[in-house]
Amino acid sequence: MAQDVDPVKTAKLFEFYVRNVWPLQRRLVARRIARRCTRCGASERMLPLGSTGVCSECEAQQRRGQPPRRERNRAQEAELAGILGAAQGSGGGDYDALVMFSGGKDSSYLVHRLKDEYPGLRVLTCTVDNGFMSPVAKRNVDEILPRLNVDHVFVRPRREFYVKLFRYTLTHLNAEGSYGTVDFSDGEFMLDSARKLAQEKRIPLVVCGYSRYQVENGLGLHHFESPPEIERRPRTETAGLKLADIFDTDDERHLWWRGAADGGHVARLLFPLYAWDLEEDEIKRQVVAWKLIPPKDQSPIVTNHRLIPLLGVVDVHRFGYSSFEKEFCRMIREGKADRLSWQHTFEFLEYTSRTGLFVKPLVLDLLQELGLTTEDVGVRFA
Ligand SMILES: [Zn+2]
Repeated sequence: MAQDVDPVKTAKLFEFYVRNVWPLQRRLVARRIARRCTRCGASERMLPLGSTGVCSECEAQQRRGQPPRRERNRAQEAELAGILGAAQGSGGGDYDALVMFSGGKDSSYLVHRLKDEYPGLRVLTCTVDNGFMSPVAKRNVDEILPRLNVDHVFVRPRREFYVKLFRYTLTHLNAEGSYGTVDFSDGEFMLDSARKLAQEKRIPLVVCGYSRYQVENGLGLHHFESPPEIERRPRTETAGLKLADIFDTDDERHLWWRGAADGGHVARLLFPLYAWDLEEDEIKRQVVAWKLIPPKDQSPIVTNHRLIPLLGVVDVHRFGYSSFEKEFCRMIREGKADRLSWQHTFEFLEYTSRTGLFVKPLVLDLLQELGLTTEDVGVRFA
């Protein structure tokens, strides 16, 4: 913010470059970037590559001879439908479901489908602004909400809270990198904000648009519902870090979920996309068909929050690849995402993390916003 760096312009430039220049340039700098699995695009720094150029995960999948497509779990879909159906009109206040809304395709899809299939469900949508929301994400929220025709609230905790959280987590990365530390605790706090809001407004359901992968690998759950005993528990840590170490005051720690301790209402937390288990393309097709999002490609690089480039660069310096890649490689392996475009994106991120092309001014700016230096996060541009 100190300098005049436009994060959206930078992201667009990055994407234009990845699409149009990088496919040629990568051949010239092939020796300076990691080799990648020819099936899923995984970096050799993430997974060992065999002599055929295929990673250990893809080889294992081949050996198992498993079909990459999962069968639909109709029992879980029916169970979820039962819960949502029964919730219609059941709220103790004005709403039956508090739906997390990021302005992205997944949450837009979720809200639309809930409204469509459960017309009696009184929906309140909610966006948590972490102070680092991209302007594109904010604009999406503003543009898509009227099309969904739902009530909405913004939750905006004080800025210093998030600066502290991001500064601490970025300098205390666990083995899962910034995805499993910074992004994870951001998501945990977002859910906690929803839990608190649902408690205050006596809303029986909190509904979140996390993908199946995010639910399984991020939260470690194997069901579309978070276990009630977990929901009742007050939070003491996030991403393995104690809240007491991150925040000095009770006041800040109390912005997190305090569970059933105060005798308050505890909502059920649901992840419908886990049960519906759709392909990325199917969701994209639907939100375009419903005229919620224009057909122009909605890139997560432009729509995600402003810290993403910083997180990617810090990860590359620490691990040799971005911790966000694991999710995409798995989606590619499962046939749910396109390999080449993602591989080019991550290759160029790896390259530019060292050269600083496009991203350096942005990264320096973001570090300054967090009160950090390049040394604090182990970043060194060539
Ligand atoms: Zn692979």
